[in-house]
Amino acid sequence: MGRDGAAGWMRIDLHTHSTASDGTQAPAEVVASAREAGVDVLALTDHDTTQGWAPAADAATRLGVALVRGIEVSCSDHGRSVHLLGYLPDPDHPALAAELRRARESRVGRLRRIVELMAADGLPVTYAQVQAQVPPGATEGRPHIADALVASGTVATRDEAFRRWLGNDSPYYVRHYAPDPVHAVELVLEAGGVPVYAHPFGRDLSTTATDRRIEAMAAAGLAGLEVHHRDHDADAVARGLALAERLSLLVTGSSDYHGAGKENRLGEHTTDPAVLAEIEARSSGVVPVLR
Ligand code: AMP
Ligand code: FE
Ligand code: FE
Ligand code: ZN
Repeated sequence: MGRDGAAGWMRIDLHTHSTASDGTQAPAEVVASAREAGVDVLALTDHDTTQGWAPAADAATRLGVALVRGIEVSCSDHGRSVHLLGYLPDPDHPALAAELRRARESRVGRLRRIVELMAADGLPVTYAQVQAQVPPGATEGRPHIADALVASGTVATRDEAFRRWLGNDSPYYVRHYAPDPVHAVELVLEAGGVPVYAHPFGRDLSTTATDRRIEAMAAAGLAGLEVHHRDHDADAVARGLALAERLSLLVTGSSDYHGAGKENRLGEHTTDPAVLAEIEARSSGVVPVLR
């Protein structure tokens, strides 16, 4: 939580998901939940899409929550998953928009292939059940398969489905196209956005960031590291703070809220107002929606 001078404490949560990707609440509902949770500034950062921006902006104006429009770009570093947050980019920047479209399109058909592999192994899931879980126009992803398994009573939670069958090291895992993280940093910058590496040291050892990867992204203009995140233990936080110091990167903290899809609660980690001010100052794609 950061101190906002005379205005008192400001709660700034810069990483959330809606039904435009794999969150379980519509964009306007995420904004309403943020307000209830006492979040003053919210970023909506759906995977590979800006589809949720317009309804979120309407709700933000109506409910008096400041909105930072963002994305979470799925990237692949030689097959290893990397997530890059991009704040306030121009959604119509041709190169960025084309890359996001390409990534979304390459996800189409992927869930069917994963489900076919699972069904061939005797798991009780069909593609029709999965399709029923994908909201119209949403960036589809493995959480929608998890939702089908929850709906049929096969597992209790998304997390159980991931732990049993949907992890990156599962035999059922199927890749989709995703840009290299250094290229994604360049694209976000070209679009006037501010790139921040999301949960760089997540619990999954196969995707946790090496110093080399972060250095390469920093050399390309990476602005910050999402250091304060539920997936980071104390060692990961210490490592992130040291790297941010050495490479002159901003430090953010956020919830990565997915509605009922994950335990993550709005505002459970927050970003300092001075860091948000720096993100705004460095952006030129779109302006924040203010109260
Ligand atoms: P995909 O986009 O298909 O690669 O799926 C990745 C998404 O799955 C991430 O954005 C997470 O939100 C979600 N995810 C990964 N692990 C878990 C988990 N253990 N529980 C719930 N959601 C998860
Ligand atoms: Fe997600
Ligand atoms: Fe992520
Ligand atoms: Zn996320």
